[in-house]
Amino acid sequence: MSARVISSISELRETLAPCRQAGEVIGLVPTMGALHEGHGRLIGQAVRDSGCVVVSVFVNPIQFNDQQDYRLYPRSLDADVEFCERRGAAIVFAPAVEEMYPRPLKSSVEVAGLTERLCGEFRPGHFRGVATVVLKLLQIVQPERAYFGEKDAQQLAVIRRMVADLNVPVTIVGVATVREPDGLALSSRNRRLSAAERELAPVFFRALEAARKRIASGERDAAAVKQAALAVLEQPGIRVEYLEIVDPDEMQPAPAIEGRVLVAGAIWLGSTRLIDNLICEPG
Ligand code: AMP
Repeated sequence: MSARVISSISELRETLAPCRQAGEVIGLVPTMGALHEGHGRLIGQAVRDSGCVVVSVFVNPIQFNDQQDYRLYPRSLDADVEFCERRGAAIVFAPAVEEMYPRPLKSSVEVAGLTERLCGEFRPGHFRGVATVVLKLLQIVQPERAYFGEKDAQQLAVIRRMVADLNVPVTIVGVATVREPDGLALSSRNRRLSAAERELAPVFFRALEAARKRIASGERDAAAVKQAALAVLEQPGIRVEYLEIVDPDEMQPAPAIEGRVLVAGAIWLGSTRLIDNLICEPG
């Protein structure tokens, strides 16, 4: 099936109108492109659930707090379109920055409370940029369902909360993290890793696994669990930005582990920042 590539909002709305009228379920998969098997899982799930799948490919400038990071973000639209076609997506929505932001924004979405910690602490304004672009995409596409990866657990929690608070008529579907056989979570940023960094990278998942094992074996003290994970990450070449144990919905610290918790972190390997997380349950 060939995918239609659309860059204008009005053309996208015109294209979707007959699908909506025919009663087709519309599914949206928002991405920043450089698509890999992680995105593939989201698209696959959307194709199974929906009559018409829109994959948006947009490197959203307002969620980058570092301009260098924005400039260096991998872009590969032709390959992305081919990828979407193979997965059965009907439409690739790839707007230019000027289409999404024709004038300076005076309105934005702030999801307070969920965004100050974890990634939000180190990337000021990031989640405002994410929530704002996602709300715009939901308004533009008006899908029944929208798909997000659990790999970005804080993002998923922020979107769920925004949709609930603002009564956006969409079902948010979370999709499990896709990993390499050695545990490294797939990410568009992995292609920036040198061979040596790539070899080191799976230690991140091993650290999260160490936390999971401690929790499963009965440890209730979050500080002790955190220490166990940090010990695994104490290696030359790795800089830990944060590692935290939080409540998976509110993203607030869980000093004592009494129920499901999210163990989430960000590390730097050279100039590449990776994030990952695991949901852990007390044994
Ligand atoms: P991105 O293009 O990085 O903004 O990601 C677009 C969507 O794909 C987000 O909802 C991510 O959470 C999701 N995603 C990225 N990597 C993975 C992965 N390894 N497994 C599952 N979902 C992912």
